[in-house]
Amino acid sequence: MNLRNLGSSGLKVSAVGLGCNNLGGRLDREGSQKLIPAAIDLGITLFDTADSYPVGRPGVSEELLGEAVGARRSDVVIATKFANVMGPGEMMRGGSRRWIMTAVEGSLRRLKTDWIDLYQMHFPDPHTPIDETLRALDDVIRAGKVRYIGCSNFSGWQIATARAVSRELGINAFASDQDEYSILVREVEREIIPAARADGMGFLPYFPLASGLLTGKYKRNAPMPQGARITAARIFQDNYLTEENWQIVERLEDFCETRGKKLLDLAVSWLLANPTVSSVIAGATKAEQLAANVKAAEWQLSADEMAQIDRISPLPKTKKIH
Ligand code: NAP
Repeated sequence: MNLRNLGSSGLKVSAVGLGCNNLGGRLDREGSQKLIPAAIDLGITLFDTADSYPVGRPGVSEELLGEAVGARRSDVVIATKFANVMGPGEMMRGGSRRWIMTAVEGSLRRLKTDWIDLYQMHFPDPHTPIDETLRALDDVIRAGKVRYIGCSNFSGWQIATARAVSRELGINAFASDQDEYSILVREVEREIIPAARADGMGFLPYFPLASGLLTGKYKRNAPMPQGARITAARIFQDNYLTEENWQIVERLEDFCETRGKKLLDLAVSWLLANPTVSSVIAGATKAEQLAANVKAAEWQLSADEMAQIDRISPLPKTKKIH
């Protein structure tokens, strides 16, 4: 497994990571206890979770991850997140100093660890000044509870502002940003990835497999695979199984087939062809999926192949206002 630096930071992460939002949700305790060791055995070092995962059972993903990593803690990089809603009212969420100091302790306890490698702000908080958030994050780094900090779902201007504020204050800055990015969803190429790259940040794409559509297991006009994520949730069907996506997926499958490759190989390798992408944190529910995802990172796409992909799945044009 190749390791990459998280942007210009010294933190090394595996090119293929594991997104852990299935833990405690679609994947029960027993499944999680099998999946995490299998991932470590395959060379996966980056595990991405959040205090709010899984949906409806906040904290359970961190608990199961901490339990499954156990004594192998020093072999892995644990990335978690704060700022999403963790309780009723306005206090248990966001980026205030007060909440960060509480949230970090909760994550450390659930993860059964003394430190968090990458502590990410899950969403921007419009009600807290960014310098308050960054100073609090700098303090948890200085206290030894956190090694690096990152953000998620920030716009380009929010990324640039946060980095500038950290520079001005002479404190630790966000080392990475996380947002949705896949061959099918390329919007971040417009502002967010350029903003991250300009300041030496790494980028972690979420939904890199479009929740499974880019693995090739869903076919138009065929029964959907039993128990799979998109099959199980209407919201994913509405988001991903659109006429436009089917047309692109079918053309991408033809592109892969003529090269003896699979759609999954393309989904992972295409993301890794972007040097700002530090790790593809695909989610998985089975050890076989992990092995396939790791293998999928091997394809070195040529410039001509990348240009062909741009024609099949272009970045949509922006509307010009005259
Ligand atoms: P994803 O990686 O696009 O899709 C994961 C799903 O694809 C798995 O649950 C599995 O579905 C299927 N899959 C994976 N490997 C496969 C394979 N080799 N063959 C067949 N199917 C395969 O979506 P994601 O897991 O939601 O996103 C990745 C991570 O990003 C998350 O786990 C989370 O850590 C992070 N995330 C962050 C945010 C944020 O706001 N920062 C938002 C969303 C996600 P089945 O269930 O069908 O087996």
